[in-house]
Amino acid sequence: MGKVIPCSGCRHCQFACPKNIPVADYIKLLNDIEMGKDGESGFNSIVERRKVKPSACDHCGKCETACSQHLFIMYNLDRVKEMFES
Ligand code: SF4
Ligand code: SF4
Repeated sequence: MGKVIPCSGCRHCQFACPKNIPVADYIKLLNDIEMGKDGESGFNSIVERRKVKPSACDHCGKCETACSQHLFIMYNLDRVKEMFES
């Protein structure tokens, strides 16, 4: 198991993202899974509310340049994609 990802929820990443991917929601999902919450229902809830899935990411890197916490956003979005979109 990994450890909690220190995302502040600032959403600078989402504002920078040409695809408007709700990165903070997907990182929170990974943290919730780490805490033992149900990932499937969490994922479905984000998709319903935000409409954009991790697979929309084309790895342009703009989010990581904007991230106030210098997080590996693309890697973590790929993790969510592998868990729930493959
Ligand atoms: S790498 Fe993906 S999530 Fe980040 S800005 Fe580009 S499309 Fe958006
Ligand atoms: S910019 Fe970084 S710290 Fe802020 S919400 Fe996005 S992933 Fe989290």
